[in-house]
Amino acid sequence: MVEKHTIFLLLGSNIHPRTVYLKKAIEFIDNSLGEIISISSLYESEPWGFEASVAFLNRVVCLESSFEPLEILKRTQEIERLLGRTTKTNGVYVSRTLDIDLLFFDDEIIDLPELTVPHAQIANRRFTLIPLAEVDPAKIHPGLNRTCRQLLDDCTDSSKVWKYKEKQVYAL
Ligand code: AMP
Repeated sequence: MVEKHTIFLLLGSNIHPRTVYLKKAIEFIDNSLGEIISISSLYESEPWGFEASVAFLNRVVCLESSFEPLEILKRTQEIERLLGRTTKTNGVYVSRTLDIDLLFFDDEIIDLPELTVPHAQIANRRFTLIPLAEVDPAKIHPGLNRTCRQLLDDCTDSSKVWKYKEKQVYAL
């Protein structure tokens, strides 16, 4: 029997239409990575570590997959490539619209040049911990031996994260 792995991904977009990029990313994940088990609410977060006029839209996805870590990375990068760049009329690729981080792969600790798992910044970022703690508060970070809920409670990041509310457009 093929072994199934439990994987947590963080999706982020700060180029409009953000909801469309995230929706399409989830469709690609469902089609090419594995079976989605749970998805967090959508959160908006202020850009972390740099200036940008558009807030990020973030969401954590938990799935079961039979692929190994480097194959997961290859496939998430392919999804970023498919969705994450827009082509100008002159054919030049511009800024990224979708980012996918591999947060956890079972309880494995992976330290390769191209892949660090658990993702190195999990404990430092509220925009990661808030959706993660919504999806699985009891999940233990295998490197830090703390649950995601505990990591969120202890996190000193003060950047703003808030639930996304789709703007209603009413006909007059
Ligand atoms: P970014 O541009 O922030 O998405 O960073 C992508 C780079 O981080 C790629 O070169 C990946 O090989 C590397 N990387 C290392 N660990 C991870 C991880 N856990 N998830 C996603 N990318 C990772």
